[in-house]
Amino acid sequence: MANDPINLSFDNLEVAFASKTNAQLRKTYWLFAAMNNTGLMNFGTSAMQTALNWRLPINGLVKATIFEQFCGGEDINECQKTVDELGKFNIGTILDYSVEGEKSEAGFDATMREIMATIDKAATSKHIPFSVFKVTGVGNFDLLAKVQEAKNMTDADLKAFDRVRNRVQTICAYAAKHKVRIFIDAEESWIQQPIDQLADEMMAEFNREEAIVYNTYQFYRWATLPTLQQAVFEAKSKGYQVGAKLVRGAYMEKERARAAANKYADPIQPNKKASDEDYDKGVLFCLENLDTVAFCAGTHNENSSLQLAAEMKKRGIAPNNPRVFFAQLLGMSDNISYNLAKAGYNVAKYVPYGPVAAVMPYLMRRAQENTSIAGQSSREFSLITRERERRKIQ
Ligand SMILES: Cc1cc2nc3c(=O)[nH]c(=O)nc-3n(C[C@H](O)[C@H](O)[C@H](O)COP(=O)(O)OP(=O)(O)OC[C@H]3O[C@@H](n4cnc5c(N)ncnc54)[C@H](O)[C@@H]3O)c2cc1C
Repeated sequence: MANDPINLSFDNLEVAFASKTNAQLRKTYWLFAAMNNTGLMNFGTSAMQTALNWRLPINGLVKATIFEQFCGGEDINECQKTVDELGKFNIGTILDYSVEGEKSEAGFDATMREIMATIDKAATSKHIPFSVFKVTGVGNFDLLAKVQEAKNMTDADLKAFDRVRNRVQTICAYAAKHKVRIFIDAEESWIQQPIDQLADEMMAEFNREEAIVYNTYQFYRWATLPTLQQAVFEAKSKGYQVGAKLVRGAYMEKERARAAANKYADPIQPNKKASDEDYDKGVLFCLENLDTVAFCAGTHNENSSLQLAAEMKKRGIAPNNPRVFFAQLLGMSDNISYNLAKAGYNVAKYVPYGPVAAVMPYLMRRAQENTSIAGQSSREFSLITRERERRKIQ
């Protein structure tokens, strides 16, 4: 990767926290201080889960604290404030309907309609560059696992998978009709094959002129780089565009545990360095094939983001080239998002939304991610602490 000096730094905290008043920064500081405290976090998460199970009225408390930090609202309309706020700083919003664990056919249909509503919203807002969905939002997880295993499929299973394909197709057709680019998120390796298959079918159908459908490639899997290369090779030979969201991957512990328990080869890279190297190779590969690939670097890694910016400069690719995007999650890595946007790069944030109780699993993951590890403060907490000191506020 290039090491050209570029006029970009993620250390500029004034830019990173420009959207926050002193009062907001103070509140964020206390929230991250609480999450950073491992003991308090463990107690807090189990207490919240218990309170929710017992249907105690804690929605207001959750909404005013952790929900406000990481989510845009309970529905699309409530997210408008976040869309406008990010938009002021040239950061796009990706409305992410974050309700998990749907099981019924009626629920899958309802989720499909909700994703279509996010497409409607994106089509009329210049600050919403992408929509997104998970295939497990519109289809049963166990069914997808069965499809991947390709055995014991009953007639009912085949019909159910046809319905999943129809929902995915309906969403992608709607996105194409409205010219809204759409990400298909990547999930666990034991259901990812049918997800990749559906994504490839959708790209072949809807990416004839431009990349509308984006599949997600997880570089913590050692098999991913060849998968991406194969997808681009296929697209070139058949004359369509590949949309690619590049991530490292979110399910490492679960993946390793399942592989060990079921005695199959671990699909995850041997170490972090190998994931980092393949991620950066994936980014380079996309840049080298920019005639066929449009991509989004979904990462909070400063090095990967800086290297991509440097490589774009080296290749004479304008920061605002519509084929290259950077994306982070709302409430995380604002130092990356705001500094990239200020320097003219295309940046967007996932803005999760949904009823408070339904997005709890998502919020718990964010909270866990922000606890201190081996006595070391979380990165977000360190950044906020530094900004608080810089502003000299208590
Ligand atoms: C906009 C956006 C969209 C996303 N979409 C998806 C998605 O669709 N599917 C999905 O799975 N994830 C998704 N993620 C999450 C992402 O995969 C990562 O979990 C998260 O961003 C942390 O990785 P990082 O690149 O930010 O940086 P880092 O903090 O540098 O990397 C952490 C990641 O490195 C990998 N890693 C850590 N330790 C090891 C090890 N010992 N061996 C091998 N690998 C290791 C893991 O993937 C870990 O999450 C998304 C993230 C963003 C910002």
